[in-house]
Amino acid sequence: MNVTELRCIKCGRRYHPDRGNLVCDDCGRQGLLEVEYDYRNIARNHDRDALAAVGDRTMWRYAAFLPVTPGDRRSGLLVGGTPLYRAQRLGQAVGLTDLWVKDEGLNPTGSLKDRASALAVARALESGYNTVACASTGNAASSLAGNAANRGLRSVIFVPSRAPAGKVAQLLIYGATVISVDGTYEQTFALSETAIEERGWYNRNAAINPYLVEGKKTVALELAEQFGWKAPDWVALSVGDGCTLAGVYKGFYDLVQVGWVDRIPRLLGVQAEGCAPIYRALATGRLEPAPENTLADSIAVGKPRNPDKAIQAVKNSQGSMVTVSDEDILDAMRLLGRTTGIFGEPAGVAGLAGLRKAVASGLVGSGELAVVIMTGNGLKDIASGTRAATPPVRIPPDPEALEGVLGAAGLG
Ligand SMILES: *Cc1c(COP(=O)(O)O)cnc(C)c1O
Repeated sequence: MNVTELRCIKCGRRYHPDRGNLVCDDCGRQGLLEVEYDYRNIARNHDRDALAAVGDRTMWRYAAFLPVTPGDRRSGLLVGGTPLYRAQRLGQAVGLTDLWVKDEGLNPTGSLKDRASALAVARALESGYNTVACASTGNAASSLAGNAANRGLRSVIFVPSRAPAGKVAQLLIYGATVISVDGTYEQTFALSETAIEERGWYNRNAAINPYLVEGKKTVALELAEQFGWKAPDWVALSVGDGCTLAGVYKGFYDLVQVGWVDRIPRLLGVQAEGCAPIYRALATGRLEPAPENTLADSIAVGKPRNPDKAIQAVKNSQGSMVTVSDEDILDAMRLLGRTTGIFGEPAGVAGLAGLRKAVASGLVGSGELAVVIMTGNGLKDIASGTRAATPPVRIPPDPEALEGVLGAAGLG
C-alpha cells in the first residue's frame, strides 16, 4: 500500500493510516482527514503505459493510488470502467466544439457513488466489520447496500423519506435494513451518526470517512487514461456534500504528482439554485445552512459535510461554480437524452445544465475541451424523467387515430 499518513485538513496533525477513528482527535468533525501517498514510490514502481496491458477495467486497476493492498478482499461488483462518449450534437446544442460525457450511470447500482461504496466495503472487510451503515439522499445508500450484499455484509441505511422510490426499491432488493426518516437529510444524518457510534458499525458517511474521496477520485484517473493521459480544459459536475468534486480534484492531483498528466483541469461545480450552500460559501467565505429546495434529490444537501475540500478543489484548479434552476435541470435531461441516448437523474444532468450556463456566460470558451460527468442513472427517479417529458398521446387501437398522431409528429 502506498498510503503514508492521514493528515487533518484543519490543523495539519498527522495520523497512522491504520487508525480506527475517521476524523481528527483535536478538531473533531471539522477535522476531515486527507489520505497521503508516497508519490515517489508510485512513480518509481508504476508506469502509466504498462496500465494498457492490465485486463481489469474496474476502478481497482488504479490500486497503486488507493488505500488497499493487493489481495485485499473487495466488493465483487464491477465498479468503474464506464464509457466516455464524444457528444457532438450535444456540443452543438450547448455551443461547444469538443464536448464529452462520462456516463457514470452505468455503474452496477447506477451511480458514481459505487466508486466510494466499493472502497468503503473493502476497508470494512479488511478491518473485520460485519455491518456497514450510512445516511444518504439515495445513491450512497443504494451503492453501499449493493456492494455490501455482494460480500455478505449487513447494511443499515438511513434515508430521508423524500428519497425517490427507485432508490428505495434498490435498497430493499439488496436486503438492507432501511430506516426511512420523516425529516431533512440533515436530521437523517444526525440520527445515523448517533446509532453508528453506539453500535460500532462501519461508517460510510460522506466526508466523515476520508476513504470515500479516494474511491471517487478513480473517475478522474479513468478520465485521464481515456484521454491518453491528457487533462481536459474543464470538468463539470454536480455538487452536494462536495466529496465528488474533491475526489475529481484529488485524482488529477495524484496524477500530476507522479508526472502522468501535466495539469489539473478547471473544475466547474454545479449546485441547484434551491440548495446552494457551497456555491454561496465560495463567494462569501462563510458556510450557511441552506433549505433543500430542488428536485435534484442527490444534491439537496442543506448542510454539506465536505465544503472545505470542495472549495479548495475549485480554487486550486482555477475553477468556478454556478447554480441552475430545476427547469434548467429538466431541460438538460431532455437535451442529453435526445442527443446522446443517455438518461440521467436530475443531479446526474445538473453538471450539464451548469456547463451550458457557463458557456452562455462566456466562462467556458466554445473551443475548450469540456467533460460532463453524468453522475446518476435516470431510471432511479422516473418521476422526474416523466416531469421533464411530454406524455405520450393515447389513442384507441384504430388506424385513423394513428394517422392523426403521426401527422402531428411530422411523420404523416
Ligand atoms: C451524491 C451525488 C452527487 C454529488 O456528490 P457529493 O459528493 O455529495 O457532492 C451528484 N450526483 C449524484 C447522482 C449523486 O448521487
